[in-house]
Parts: sequence; structure tokens; C-alpha cells
Amino acid sequence: MRYISTRGDAPIRDFSGVLLAGLAEDGGLYMPETWPQLDLAALRGLPYAELAARVMQPFIGNCIAPDIIHAMTRDAYAGFGSKAVVPLVQLDTNVWTQELFHGPTLAFKDMALQLVGRLFDHVLAERNERVTIVGATSGDTGSAAIEACAGRSRIDICILHPDGRTSDVQRRQMTTVLADNVRNLAVAGTFDDCQDLVKAMFADMPFRTEMHLSAVNSINWARILGQIPYYVAAALALGAPDRAVDFAVPTGNFGNVLAAYAARRMGVPINRLIVASNRNDILARFLAANDMSVRGVEPSLSPSMDIQVSSNFERLLFELLDRDAQLTAKTMTEFRATGHMPVSHAAWSRATALFTGFTLSDADTLSAIRALHASSGYLACPHSIIGIEAARALVQAPTPIIAEATAHPAKFPDAIVQAIGIHPPLPAHLADLYDREERYTRVPADLAAIETEVRHLARRNAA
Ligand SMILES: *Cc1c(COP(=O)(O)O)cnc(C)c1O
Repeated sequence: MRYISTRGDAPIRDFSGVLLAGLAEDGGLYMPETWPQLDLAALRGLPYAELAARVMQPFIGNCIAPDIIHAMTRDAYAGFGSKAVVPLVQLDTNVWTQELFHGPTLAFKDMALQLVGRLFDHVLAERNERVTIVGATSGDTGSAAIEACAGRSRIDICILHPDGRTSDVQRRQMTTVLADNVRNLAVAGTFDDCQDLVKAMFADMPFRTEMHLSAVNSINWARILGQIPYYVAAALALGAPDRAVDFAVPTGNFGNVLAAYAARRMGVPINRLIVASNRNDILARFLAANDMSVRGVEPSLSPSMDIQVSSNFERLLFELLDRDAQLTAKTMTEFRATGHMPVSHAAWSRATALFTGFTLSDADTLSAIRALHASSGYLACPHSIIGIEAARALVQAPTPIIAEATAHPAKFPDAIVQAIGIHPPLPAHLADLYDREERYTRVPADLAAIETEVRHLARRNAA
């Protein structure tokens, strides 16, 4: 499989090249040149790890042998808290939720990142290279990246978080990972300071080259790839290929719902994709009225969906524009300059034929968590409940609708306490989180001090 940039002015790469490159040199995002077609009937009844390996294989092509991919998926999902890996729970007639939060950090990012860490390690070993991954986190994505890289032989990872400004659960999920190749830096500053420091490290070219700096951010195609199989699994379980399904997806950077779109392009019968948002409703405004215009980010009870611009939307735009890379580049440049994305009526109509927007306020989020818990005993996190509410509102019998549950409720104890007055217990494999040893280094918000720490980490593990 060959990969092309959405902006048409970057080298064509194979899977390994795209994995290591992340963003394309022209500022675009890599996309597969074609959509492989699935033989759905042949995938029925397979264990999740095997299904995932078979769905991903055509995208990886000759870069990694099929049996190695299968070994990776087996290993990546073996430690999950559910044997089914991504179990379906029926909530109502035709309404289901698919739990994507049984991984080590209790959020759906583990689905892809557990694979991406292993893919990096494999490709780097073949090339006899190492990388140092640096990143900033306000709490959530850092832990999934750390869990993905911990103990990997070719990767060192250093994550900056704002000292004292993450929740206890979030900090402990990062700082109790004691692997030698992991370093947590608690920066005396804000999340923005942390992000600026990471950008400054990437901009320091001698340092960047010396450390082989890399990132595992959400625009990497491998992140999308690792999310396609659970859409295939859910559709198969509920009757595909003979019966179509709908999905409702709590959305931030548009990565998860883009994976659903990819599954559809591969032949999974999907009628509708519901893009579920909180009060940060740029995608809902686009789908309702072709109004993709940037406003300030407002904090909500579902912080992982607090976005201004969804970075992966560019991949859908490329498709809506019939893969016209020049027009995609022009549209993105204008969006950046004006804060408004000019999309033709024809392209917008193609989007609305498949995608529907849905938004929920914080107040309605809390009452929906409460009502669902009272009526069924099911406890949903403040992100997942928005997908579930969307599914309940928009279900069209007899088509099953599946709401993707993106995090475990125990990850967001404050919102759950507000909703139902009960502190949600951590699942068994994390129950001792508050008793585990923590390891992190406090540093000033100073580039030189932080580069010294990163250098120290990378040297120690190369030795
Ligand atoms: C990252 C995240 C989302 C948003 O997913 P995207 O792929 O960015 O759209 C939703 N919910 C939770 C819990 C998340 O961590």
C-alpha cells in the first residue's frame, strides 16, 4: 500500500515510512492511495486480535509479515480487562454501546496506541534506529502514550505535564509507570507552557537530530488504522454484511469517527455516522449549516472533546473533494487564514448524506448520566454519554445504532459524583493505583533544563 499526502506535495511513502513520518512535509496528512475491500463473511466469529490483524494487513502491505502483525495484535490486547476486548452492551431496543475502554489507561486511545508502540519498535529494530518521543499533556493523552511505549526497546519517552494541574488519577496513571525508558517531567507552569516547550524542542534542530525526536500524535495514520477493526467487529456482531448499522461517536479531533468512515469505505455496511460533540460544536455547525468557523475553546465536562479545530477532518475533506489535493491545500490555507472553511455545497452535501451532528450541554450530560444509571444501572463517562444520548435520539428502527464508549467512568470521578453522588470505583487492574510508587521530576519551565533531562534519559537507555 502506498500513502499520499492530502496536500499533494510530499513524498509517497509505504506504511513504515508513514508511521515514522507522522505529518507529511507539505503540512498535509497521509492517506492510503486506495481503500482495500474486506471479505466480511470470512471475518465472522474471529477473536478480536485476529480480526484486527486481518483488517489492518492490507494497509501495512509488504512492510510487516501477516504473522508478525497477528502476534502484535495478540500481545497488544492480551492485557485488556475484557476477554472480548471491545464488548457490546445492549441499552435499549436497537441501541448498543461498544466499550473501548478496557485498556491500561481506561480510554479508547489505548486501542491504537498499544499497537503503535509495538509497530514503532518493530520498524525501528529493522532499521537499527531509536527514537525519543516527547509530548505535553493536560492529563489524558500522556498516560496512553506512556503505556504504549513503556518497556519498548527502541523508544524513550518523556512527557511534560503541568505540575499540580492534572487530576490525581491522571497524574498517577503516568507517574506510576516505572519502566526505565519513561520519564515524567512536572513543569512549573501551565499546559500551554508545556506545549510551547515541546514545540521549542522540535524547533531546536541540533537537539531534534541528536535525540531523534518523534511524536505519536493523533494525525499519524497508524492511529486511525488501529481504530478501524472495532467498527468491523461491531457491525459483524450485529448482522453485517446482511444488515447495515449506524454509529454514534463522541468526537474531538475526528480520529475515531474517521476510522468508522474508513471501515465504510472498506465495505462495512454503515448507513449513518453521528458526530457527537459537547458545547464545542464546530463539527455540528458544519453538518447543520456548512459553517465550519473557529470559535474559542470552552472547557466542558468532557475535556477530551474540547477542541477548536479537528485535525483529522482534513482527511475527510480530501475525500469530500474527490481527493483533489490542490483544492484541499487551498481550502486548509484559507481556513487557517480566515477561521472559516470554504466548502462547496456539493462537497458539504456529500458529508451530510453520511454524517449527522449532535451536541449536548454539560447540564444535559449530567442528567443523562443520572437517568441512564437510574433506569438501567449502567454508568457512562461524560464523553460516552453524549454518544449514547445521540444514539437514543436518532435511532431509526430496525437499524441497530452503536454508541462508542470512549472512556471508563472512573476516569472522570468529579463529573460522576456531580451526576449520581457516588465515587466510581476503578476496575480491578487499577484498583491499587493510589498505593503505587510514583516517579517524576519537577523542573522549571525552562528549555535548557528540560533538554538536559531528555538528553539524560536518552543516553541512559542507549548505553
Ligand atoms: C480522545 C478522546 C475523544 C475524541 O476522540 P477523537 O478521535 O479525537 O475524535 C473522545 N473521548 C475520549 C474519552 C477521548 O479520550
